[in-house]
Amino acid sequence: MKAIYWFRSDLRIADNPNLNGAIEKGAQLTFVYVLEDRNWSKAAEWRRKFILESVVELRERLLGLGSVLILLHGDAQQRLTELCEQIGTHTIYAMREPAWDEQQIEERLSSSGLHLKLGWDGFLLHPEDHLFWPGQLPDIFTAFRGKAEKNLAVRPVMSEPKMLVGNNTATPWEWPEDGDALLVTEPDTRSAFPFKGGEVEASRRLHHYLWGSDAVASYFDTRNGLIGSDYSTKLSAWLALGCISPRQVYAELRHYERLRTANKSTYWVVFELLWRDYFRYVALRHGRALFARNGFNGKRANAKPDQEVSDAWKRGRTGDAFVDANMRELLATGFMSNRGRQNVASFLVHDLRQDWREGADWFERHLIDYDPCSNWCNWAYVAGVGNDPRPDRRFNTQRQAEMYDADGAYRALWQ
Ligand code: FAD
Repeated sequence: MKAIYWFRSDLRIADNPNLNGAIEKGAQLTFVYVLEDRNWSKAAEWRRKFILESVVELRERLLGLGSVLILLHGDAQQRLTELCEQIGTHTIYAMREPAWDEQQIEERLSSSGLHLKLGWDGFLLHPEDHLFWPGQLPDIFTAFRGKAEKNLAVRPVMSEPKMLVGNNTATPWEWPEDGDALLVTEPDTRSAFPFKGGEVEASRRLHHYLWGSDAVASYFDTRNGLIGSDYSTKLSAWLALGCISPRQVYAELRHYERLRTANKSTYWVVFELLWRDYFRYVALRHGRALFARNGFNGKRANAKPDQEVSDAWKRGRTGDAFVDANMRELLATGFMSNRGRQNVASFLVHDLRQDWREGADWFERHLIDYDPCSNWCNWAYVAGVGNDPRPDRRFNTQRQAEMYDADGAYRALWQ
């Protein structure tokens, strides 16, 4: 039987349940990744670079196992339908995505007569092992975490395939025009994220953060940092593209806890991964409503849109030195700390009174770790139209700067 394996946000070979499932079915697989116009055309340079690095590495990994990766560019539905015709199959294996737009593509492909064999991936807590989906998803994270921690059943990491029987007859590689230039662009020397995309790089980073530097053992105290690479794990971009799975991170952490240290910091990394999972479930539950102006909690967003005002925010020219430094870091590197993200989001929504979706869209363009669930749910949360039980999550950015950038080093760095 011939079939396609469509890589989506699971750009890895190791611990890939859907890939393993397709192999077990004995299908002769054609491997493909689509640079989807709807994402690619809006992605800024750092995000593009990271995606391409991850795809190139996946191609090398596949070649090592005896198979080729096809790279297509355009509309996923159209390009996959064409590829199915060319190969002579109706079957596509892929991961099921939790966010609305990605689900619409799945629906369109299915209703055009193709057989989509979809399975979950990218969660720490597999939806089939827990009652959150379909079922009861608590409206607030604390309740979700309470339930999750009572029964923290994380599936074990799968062994990776040793060889892949690929159908290597079709080999298009639709490399974008700016692809070569992007790959040789050097990161800003001030960047907190000077890393490359790809599965191997992801493991290297995880290994460094745990075994190499022991930085994980002080994560709780450093996680609100702003400068340098090791104040937090920096795993988000690889997790977003699926170059590493949350199960792999979890398994390595537990191993580290057994052999070195188990403390509040190592626990807190899992705590953050639960936030990530929670927002995946929230996106699943609320579908399209997550992207609506008033979000999904029945409150009304109160914005006075003004293009000049939001443009000043985007370019780091609001006059608030802390906000501006963070926005400049984002533009120059594609990354911003969690502390920064909370502040700039709050500032746009609560101080500048702009539509929160303008900010979410800007992040979508620029963040190398852009993930529809984490991004839009965090924005909705800060804007008060998501899962935040507090009536007003306004950050006092001056006070935050005094607390987290007391000596002004961060503001000076991104002046
Ligand atoms: P660490 O602090 O080391 O945390 C470990 C991991 O836990 C992260 O890699 C991430 O996967 C997860 N995590 C941590 N905090 C959160 C959170 N608040 N929500 C969801 N997952 C979390 N994260 C993204 O991955 N993609 C996004 O598009 C994104 N957009 C955001 C937008 C706003 C407005 C805000 C406030 C936060 C956003 N975050 C997003 C969450 C968080 O800021 C980043 O995950 C984190 O800064 C990435 O750095 P790290 O990997 O070093 O995180």
